Amino acid sequence: MSHPKKEQTLIIIKPDGIQRTLIGEIIKRYERTGLKLIALKMLIAKTETIRKHYTIDPEWIIKVGEKSILSYEKKGLKAPYSDPEKVGNKVLKNLQGYMTSGPIILMVWEGNQAVGIVRKITGGTEPLVSDVGTIRGDFTVDSYQIADTDDRPIRNLIHASGTVDEAQKEIALWFLKEELLNYRLIQEQILYDVNMDGVKE
Ligand code: ADP
Ligand code: MG
Repeated sequence: MSHPKKEQTLIIIKPDGIQRTLIGEIIKRYERTGLKLIALKMLIAKTETIRKHYTIDPEWIIKVGEKSILSYEKKGLKAPYSDPEKVGNKVLKNLQGYMTSGPIILMVWEGNQAVGIVRKITGGTEPLVSDVGTIRGDFTVDSYQIADTDDRPIRNLIHASGTVDEAQKEIALWFLKEELLNYRLIQEQILYDVNMDGVKE
C-alpha cells in the first residue's frame, strides 16, 4: 500500500464554474488545505468521455436515481418519478449535454485523505442543502426540484470523486500516467515529516 499522503482525487470544474468566473476562488479553497495539485488541464470534453466517466461505477445509474428520489422524501415531498433506473438514465443523458457545453478544468489533487477532504470542501450534490462554507453551498442556488421541472442537470460547479477506487479509475480516464507530476512541496515538511527539523535558526 502506498503512503496515505499519496491519496489522489479528481476534481472537475464544470462548465458553469468556468462561466461564473470562479476558477481562482475554487482552486484557492482546495489549495489552502495543504493538498498538492499534481495535474491540471482545460479542455472541451467529448460526449463519449463524459458517458464513460459517469458509468465507471456500473451501479451509479441506479444510485443517482435513488438519491434523487430520497432528496424529495427528506423534504417531505413526493418525487416526480419512481423508477431509479429511468431517472439515472435521464440524468446521464442531460449530464452529457451539460458537461460538453463549454470548457472544463480537470485537476488531480494529492494528500492525506484527499478524496474525503475534497468532498467535504465541495459540499453535497444539491446546492440548496449543501453546507454553508462549502463551494456548492456558497456559490450557487440550484435544487433537484428546479432541475427536474426544467428537465436539466443540477448545476453545481464541481465534480469530485466519491471514493478512492472511483478516483483511481477517473484519473486513468482523463490523464496519462506521465501527466501526474511527482514532486515535493516545501510545506510537506511541516504537514508530514516525522520531525519538524530546519525551523529553528
Ligand atoms: P455528485 O456530483 O455529488 O457525486 P452524483 O454522482 O449523485 O453527485 O450525480 C452526478 C451529477 O449529476 C450531480 O453532480 C448533478 O450535476 C447531476 N444530478 C444528479 N442527480 C440529478 C437529478 N435528479 N436531476 C438533475 N441532475 C442530477
Ligand atoms: Mg458522484
